[in-house]
Amino acid sequence: MTAHADELSRLPVTVLKGVGPKSAERLARLDIETVQDVLFHLPLRYQDRTRVVPMGQLRSGEEAVIEGEIEHVEIRFGRRRSLLVHLSDGSGRVILRFFHFSAAQKNALKPGLRLHGFGEVRNGPACQELVHPEYRLVSENDTGLDEASLTPVYPTTEGMHQLSWRDLTDKALLMLHNSSTGLQEWLPADLLREYQLMELGEAIAYLHRPPPDAPQRLLLEGRHPAQQRLAFEELVAHQLSLRQARQLHRNHRGPILDGDERLQKALIGQLPFSLTAAQQRVLQEISRDMAQGRPMLRLVQGDVGSGKTVVAALAAMQALGSGHQVALMAPTELLAEQHLKSFRQWLEPLQVRVGWLSGSVKGKVRQSLLEDLAQGRVGVLVGTQALFQEDVKYHSLGLVIVDEQHRFGVHQRLALREKGVQDGCYPHQLIMTATPIPRSLAMTAYADLDLSVIDELPPGRTPVTTVVVSDQRRDQIIERVRAACARGRQAYWVCTLIEESEVLQCQAAEDVAAELQAELESLRVGLVHGRLSSQEKEQVMQAFKNGDIHLLVATTVIEVGVDVPNASLMIIENPERLGLSQLHQLRGRVGRGEVESHCVLLYHPPLGETARERLAVLRDSSDGFIIARKDLELRGPGEVLGVRQTGEMQFRIADILRDQAMLEPAREAADRLLDRHPEVVKPLVKRWLGSNTQYARV
Ligand code: ADP
Ligand code: MG
Repeated sequence: MTAHADELSRLPVTVLKGVGPKSAERLARLDIETVQDVLFHLPLRYQDRTRVVPMGQLRSGEEAVIEGEIEHVEIRFGRRRSLLVHLSDGSGRVILRFFHFSAAQKNALKPGLRLHGFGEVRNGPACQELVHPEYRLVSENDTGLDEASLTPVYPTTEGMHQLSWRDLTDKALLMLHNSSTGLQEWLPADLLREYQLMELGEAIAYLHRPPPDAPQRLLLEGRHPAQQRLAFEELVAHQLSLRQARQLHRNHRGPILDGDERLQKALIGQLPFSLTAAQQRVLQEISRDMAQGRPMLRLVQGDVGSGKTVVAALAAMQALGSGHQVALMAPTELLAEQHLKSFRQWLEPLQVRVGWLSGSVKGKVRQSLLEDLAQGRVGVLVGTQALFQEDVKYHSLGLVIVDEQHRFGVHQRLALREKGVQDGCYPHQLIMTATPIPRSLAMTAYADLDLSVIDELPPGRTPVTTVVVSDQRRDQIIERVRAACARGRQAYWVCTLIEESEVLQCQAAEDVAAELQAELESLRVGLVHGRLSSQEKEQVMQAFKNGDIHLLVATTVIEVGVDVPNASLMIIENPERLGLSQLHQLRGRVGRGEVESHCVLLYHPPLGETARERLAVLRDSSDGFIIARKDLELRGPGEVLGVRQTGEMQFRIADILRDQAMLEPAREAADRLLDRHPEVVKPLVKRWLGSNTQYARV
């Protein structure tokens, strides 16, 4: 593969006519630096302006060109004043609706004239409508059509119009056409044959300029073979970048933790229950990894209450039994403190010292802890991200356990790997998440990790009964709280607020607490939110645990880890604002004891179709995996993975949901490339992830 063959990936955009330094700078913002990058800047979608759609065949939701005779024009005074233009073409009728219009505009639209329009079709009250379409008046023999193929719509940045994109891609396509070699094909021929993949340059050219007879539906849905071919390559590239990260990591040296089993056995013997089959299986997978001389990177998924903590503790025993230390990190102090309690309860009887470190541990206490840690007098250190501050030195860190991984994101995950490295020896890593992710998605998003699933709950759990109730019945629900507490139970009242600012969120939770306290004067109402100090939080939680507080009003800070078995009722206000997996997680706070528990989803009407459907999923299922799959379908992978804001799982053309069937083949293909064609890994990753190859940095 010569430099010449790969020329389009080397030629800077400025070789294209009309692209000066200014445009180059703008393009660079989109990570477009070479001619190849321009070619891989693919249309987001298409408009069909190639043909006039008979009005009788219009489908709502589609964009379409229409043409017909104006029958009647009127101004309606409803909730909003609007101009309605009634059109017909013999096959049907349609209304053009304008909310902004001038008198001149209205006057020009006279009955009997022919009008040519383009816009999105919607179902209106009387018939189908185009809201604010582009339009112009035409004569009988001027059809008004000026496009021969589907019109591509490009993702863009400020200062770049669609016409500029078309111009730019025209030039790049011409260059592709005239180039002797075209685009470098990095996928090997046998793979192309096997998956019946279209030729690369052909696919690219097709997607930029689909021919007039292109199957529009397929293209609009992203299911055309040209799109699928590129989606496949993109998925392979993502796999490769993550796998590469994993491979590099596995080349490191890790401590061999196959020592004394007595500690582990002692802990098992001391537990008031026996492990579920799923816990045992996962523990074995972990044990095997830790006995290798390569650092483990394992993600343990398990639904709320599946018993991940004890599995983590047993893994910790294996490290301790081999003379190594363990760090256990959680994303919030509240959750970390919960772990601290469990670990102390289990480990201290076995003479293992469990230390605590968070941002609020300071001064002398911190100093002496750090000394003990460096001397190896602390076996397990539990805490927040403070565990890996610059000056925290371990004596011999063998295992890092991270709880609720998804909250840390890919970048932090990769950064974490560098923690605790001593003399080139990398500690093992065990990552735990309660957000069940469908397997195919997990394999794609976490291709840099090995996966274990605890797919079984301990016996004897009663599922939580969930009801969906309008907040018009808030009073009744408050009565329910009163009744439950009168029977000696406790309850959570969760405020899900959309305010951006934490201050406002907490303020709102305070208001709710005050209101509920006034209504329920005989009960003790507590409040916990993100702005309390960890000590204050701890006090409130402890009081709740002791039964001194009957009703705990909380923001979503209680989402993870909190364990109060006597709490059997949870009210979640405005659940429609949260993701399903998050709601499932919250709901997991009840149903932890013997008694039957209830969760009330107190929504604010009106509830849209999707929201209704989503809440019904939660009402009807208590299986985190089913819920996550639904969340994925309804809200997309970003929500499920908790990376919506960061855009980490955003693909250019692939769609994890639509292309589910390709995830597995893409993984296999990535395997083969790594194995037999390692030289293509780098250019493929570069092509699809550009300089944005955070995955590949290790
Ligand atoms: P999660 O997976 O949500 O972190 P935890 O580890 O907090 O779940 O476990 C939930 C509860 O179940 C804890 O009180 C724990 O002691 C208990 N538990 C864990 N494993 C078992 C088991 N095999 N049998 C019975 N109870 C168990
Ligand atoms: Mg947990």
